[in-house]
Amino acid sequence: MTYDLIIIGSGIAGISAAIYAKRSNLDILIIEKSAPGGLLNNIDKITNYPGFEEITGSDLAMKLNDQLAKLDVKSVYEEVINIELEGNLKRVVTKDDEYVSKAVLIATGRIPKKIGLENEDSLYGRGLSTCALCDGNFFKGKDVAVIGGGNSALQEALYLANIVNKVYLIHRRDEFRADEKLINQVLNNNKIEIVYNSKVTNINKENDIVSSVTLNNELEINVSGVFVYIGYEPGTNFVERLGISNKNGYIITNGFGETTIPGIYAAGDIIEKQVYQLVTAASEGAIAAININKYCKQTMK
Ligand code: NAP
Repeated sequence: MTYDLIIIGSGIAGISAAIYAKRSNLDILIIEKSAPGGLLNNIDKITNYPGFEEITGSDLAMKLNDQLAKLDVKSVYEEVINIELEGNLKRVVTKDDEYVSKAVLIATGRIPKKIGLENEDSLYGRGLSTCALCDGNFFKGKDVAVIGGGNSALQEALYLANIVNKVYLIHRRDEFRADEKLINQVLNNNKIEIVYNSKVTNINKENDIVSSVTLNNELEINVSGVFVYIGYEPGTNFVERLGISNKNGYIITNGFGETTIPGIYAAGDIIEKQVYQLVTAASEGAIAAININKYCKQTMK
């Protein structure tokens, strides 16, 4: 069958687009590689999303998923590896199958950046993590390091401080790039020790498990866990081949969610933009869906 719209990614941008596309009666398929909600599932506390004074990321993801279920949108859990152009149609190829649609919305978000240390890959799951919410409980009563100086690093350092014995917050500069409120909370938390002007040059291990970090000034800090929060990057290889991204891998869109390929749209953290927030991703999903509806109606008459 030919769908009106295939949405790749069921984070907040993809789900918001699905809600709007469904209101326009479009026939939709959502293709998701892991869990609905995307990175929402890694967020401990959300306090800046309208309508919820405070909600956990996984609760918001569940609410979105419930809303989607009520809309009766078809979803498959597969990894997209290519989008082929066939005249006015698009063929979305996954590792398992192929699907055809009039329009495609890419809403695949971003993945956490790695530091780039030699033994980094082998230590993920062995004391090294990019998700405090998923792994924090393994370090109850122990000392951990959080690397980074943005909103994510500070927010997750505060979350971990409730669980662990001590958090070393290691930042490469002497100033954070985070909201004032979070900075004040961190500065006033006596379980968080801030290590400014420092870069981790090595993550050391004992019996293949993280045991300490070495800094560029050669100081060694003993920790059982290391949480990396140094930002995010687009992690979607199939997008590169389409030639619609900038040099850093972010998709370039106009104010309508359109890319330079007619019928291919993008929304959320995968696009080049100024503000990466849940509210902006939700709004971009809605804008794209409204324009996709017009596209489907105009081009397929
Ligand atoms: P971010 O704002 O890009 O901050 C990344 C931090 O990691 C920066 O402090 C940066 O240092 C540091 N860093 C980058 N590369 C590094 C490296 N190789 N080694 C060591 N440190 C490195 O990323 P984020 O904190 O994940 O936030 C991403 C976006 O989501 C932002 O727009 C943020 O505002 C938003 N967000 C919002 C909330 C909220 O509203 N509560 C929560 C989480 C995230 P420099 O400062 O020196 O560049």
